Amino acid sequence: MINVIKKRKENNNMCIFCKIVNGEIPSKKVYEDDDVLAILDISQATVGHTLVMPKKHYANILEIPNNEYQKVMLKVKEIANKLNTKLNPKGINVLNNCGEAAGQTVMHYHVHILPRYNDNDIKLEFTDHSSNVNLDDILKEIND
Ligand code: AMP
Ligand code: ZN
Repeated sequence: MINVIKKRKENNNMCIFCKIVNGEIPSKKVYEDDDVLAILDISQATVGHTLVMPKKHYANILEIPNNEYQKVMLKVKEIANKLNTKLNPKGINVLNNCGEAAGQTVMHYHVHILPRYNDNDIKLEFTDHSSNVNLDDILKEIND
């Protein structure tokens, strides 16, 4: 147990978003309160691309406790509305990457808000693989 706690501490010390929360690395703050921080994503995949995160370190959506998750997601909604009003995009993507295989590169839970101005400003493609999948089989696997 002590090892697990130690490992968590090491992770947090190295975590770039913990450093941003602690003010050790500068950021462009869109919103801040006691529990939640929202900053402009350094990559600006689209203009206004914002990251919303809990101030406490949780690796991903599978680890963050419900009370913290609720706080973050309520702010995601508020900030999406603010970006919509101020930047007037044509649409908005809200997304979270969980795990390296899903594209997560910073292992501190965060939600991307991506204002969209053109159909092709970022690519999120959902290819239809339904002919390879039996819906009843997969439903049984999930629900049984
Ligand atoms: P993800 O790939 O979902 O883990 O997203 C991590 C995001 O963090 C990427 O979009 C990066 O551009 C962004 N990022 C990395 N370092 C910084 C930083 N110092 N300030 C703001 N955004 C950052
Ligand atoms: Zn962290």
